[in-house]
Amino acid sequence: MADLTAITRSGDRTALSNTAVRELVRGFQGQIAGPGEDGYDEGRRLWNGMFDRRPSLVARCASADDVARAITFAREHELLVAVRGGGHSVAGYSACDGGIVIDLSLMQAVQIDADTRLARVQAGATWAVLDRATQQYGLAAPGGVVSTTGVAGLTLGGGYGWLRRKYGLSCDNMRSAEVVTVDGKQLTASATENPDLFWGLRGGGGNFGIVTSFEFELHPIGPQFMYAAVLYPLEQGVEVISAWRDFMAHAPDEITSDVTPWTVPQDPELPEEIHGRDIVMLEAGYAGPAEEGERALQPLRELAEPLFDMSGIMPYVEAQSSVDELVPAREKLYYWKSLNLNELSDPAIETIIAQCRKRPSKVTRVPIRYLGGAISRVGTEETAFGDRSKPILLSIDASWSDPEATDENITWVREFWKQMLPYSDGSAYLNFGGFGEDGDSFVQASFGKNYQRLAELKHKYDPQNILRLNHNIRPET
Ligand SMILES: Cc1cc2nc3c(=O)[nH]c(=O)nc-3n(C[C@H](O)[C@H](O)[C@H](O)COP(=O)(O)OP(=O)(O)OC[C@H]3O[C@@H](n4cnc5c(N)ncnc54)[C@H](O)[C@@H]3O)c2cc1C
Repeated sequence: MADLTAITRSGDRTALSNTAVRELVRGFQGQIAGPGEDGYDEGRRLWNGMFDRRPSLVARCASADDVARAITFAREHELLVAVRGGGHSVAGYSACDGGIVIDLSLMQAVQIDADTRLARVQAGATWAVLDRATQQYGLAAPGGVVSTTGVAGLTLGGGYGWLRRKYGLSCDNMRSAEVVTVDGKQLTASATENPDLFWGLRGGGGNFGIVTSFEFELHPIGPQFMYAAVLYPLEQGVEVISAWRDFMAHAPDEITSDVTPWTVPQDPELPEEIHGRDIVMLEAGYAGPAEEGERALQPLRELAEPLFDMSGIMPYVEAQSSVDELVPAREKLYYWKSLNLNELSDPAIETIIAQCRKRPSKVTRVPIRYLGGAISRVGTEETAFGDRSKPILLSIDASWSDPEATDENITWVREFWKQMLPYSDGSAYLNFGGFGEDGDSFVQASFGKNYQRLAELKHKYDPQNILRLNHNIRPET
């Protein structure tokens, strides 16, 4: 490898000599790749087609020791650092131009202890990998709803999936984590070891260190799972969403549900006569016996006359990947921004429907997630995640294909988002946080009361803010 030019944390150019890189390569178990070399593209590629970032080096780690070497190298050379788990950061945080990407995607091992109902998973795994392994035992860790997302970024930011109202956020089910800190030390974080770090990892994002593996509590789920997916006409959107809200206000924790204004795609598996129809898609999962779930979810399949009903008992892993195709990696451009809503009042629903009618792109979806249940029974200060009292998470998930339509789509999201502010306290789910353009104030509003403690924790574990490509918390004493 020839000498390289890299970008430092302060944005300056710096030379990386061939000797320095060779020193890093020596003893490295994974792969170090520069531009054009094997593994370079695999280690830097992001899901969001908006970003094609080109680091000077990609460190594809195979072990915690590799991670420690890579972060030490980055610190000593003052390089800009991005940490990549599953690469699904919508904001594109997990790759950088000119710096170093510490890529964990080669680290995907899973170990299950079915007796203690614990799983240990390396931090480069996706939910597809973890779900497949846990389902061998009829167990699951609460994850997200798209199987291609990374376990790491999703868990560190919170994690909302189909088990959330029964078993809480993904981060609530983390029992411990192995972490490499910016000074290259390898620590365990749990309720008894480095408990401050453990607190921060449960919702505080990738601010405090690089997690190399997570230990999760597992729950009896599947292999058969009741999953409802019903398409209602958007013309009846207000009635459907208000009936859904009223049902969910009294629903048992086993039921987790979303409603999503959207448009039926040209999918041969869907009846041709409804292709292109504007709809509200209802989805729900039941965290309990599948037959019991079939009965419990029936009212959600009768909120109005459906255009199409795809509900049924199916393998849990199938339910977990049922919408994967709607959000393909790199084929589309994405900009997603969310808000926690204080309530889903009728005017709020009307505003949502009116804005959805104006979507510049028909593939854009607007998931409205019902929260509560186990999520809200964890105290705000028990984990870093922030306030959990809001019943609704609105996410405006714009996607489009034509780069020339970027401004129009982003402007539409921001306008919609502003119109929803009166129904919110301004906090959001940071994993759906736009491109981070709202800066510190948005991060502070979302962490709420926990922010100050997080800023002090950041100062303890990363005083130079080396890990800054994330929902960044600035170090404070
Ligand atoms: C298609 C899609 C579907 C989604 N569905 C859901 C959903 O159902 N529920 C939900 O809650 N969220 C969902 N999300 C949001 C998702 O939680 C975040 O995008 C998350 O960051 C993805 O994790 P990742 O490991 O793939 O991301 P990456 O892009 O690899 O990383 C995201 C952030 O975490 C940091 N990071 C990654 N790994 C580590 C590590 N090991 N140690 C320290 N920091 C690390 C990165 O530096 C970056 O800042 C979805 C996102 C997408 C794109």
